[in-house]
Amino acid sequence: MLIVQKYGGTSLVDAPRLQAAARRAVGLAKQGDRVVMVVSAQGDTTDEMIEKAACINKRRAAREMDAYLAAGEQMSAGLMAMAIGALGHSAVSLTGWQAGIHTDGAHGNARITGINCERICRELDAGKIVVVAGFQGVDAQGDITTLGRGGSDTTAVALAAFLKADRCQIYTDVDGIYDRDPRQFADAVRFDRISYDQMMALVENGAQVLHDRSVEFAREYGIAVEVLSAFTGAPGTVVG
Ligand code: ADP
Ligand code: ASP
Ligand code: MG
Repeated sequence: MLIVQKYGGTSLVDAPRLQAAARRAVGLAKQGDRVVMVVSAQGDTTDEMIEKAACINKRRAAREMDAYLAAGEQMSAGLMAMAIGALGHSAVSLTGWQAGIHTDGAHGNARITGINCERICRELDAGKIVVVAGFQGVDAQGDITTLGRGGSDTTAVALAAFLKADRCQIYTDVDGIYDRDPRQFADAVRFDRISYDQMMALVENGAQVLHDRSVEFAREYGIAVEVLSAFTGAPGTVVG
């Protein structure tokens, strides 16, 4: 089975959480699955980077902001590959452009236009767990782009679509999709399953649990997206 699994910032915030994600991926690989991990920047890294940049230049160029912000996800990818290595399994980290993720040139909010999966497939064939830095790609000029806040979800769903993955799992800090934000409403109700349209309506109402374009991609390519807790691994919500 080919499985794409994405880990968000809180799910990678420190060494124990990063190692827990690495153990899950290695467990699957040992079972014979092919695993592609998509990682976000750790914790609040992206927010902190944006604050730093604002101190340097209030009217900074979007191109340079992308070059800078993409590094948050690259750091996670390198660390994750090292964490997997420490467990005795081989892994390779890839930036968005190394992974063949092509986008338009809309810096800060780029749209994925296609993925050349050759490199990823070659690494999977060599028995490696492939760790892809989320939230980023490369435009037709060869410049680094980012996909908009929360964009690692879209990296994962797009990879699942282009790789024709059997499963697409979004590991996060809640155990699925609720009718309202479960952190704000104690009586929020969790869905076992939800349609793309219902999910899109939640996203349009401000639920940042999934990036809007990840839901659009899932709907277009018919990808069932599993949203589940990185902490418990219990079955969460299937979108689609
Ligand atoms: P990640 O770092 O894993 O990408 P996000 O912070 O982007 O995580 O999204 C997860 C958060 O989305 C949860 O912590 C939760 O507070 C929030 N959220 C908002 N609305 C919902 C909803 N309807 N169902 C689940 N989570 C929601
Ligand atoms: N690190 C980026 C952000 O904070 C992308 C992501 O987490 O999906 O928006
Ligand atoms: Mg997110």
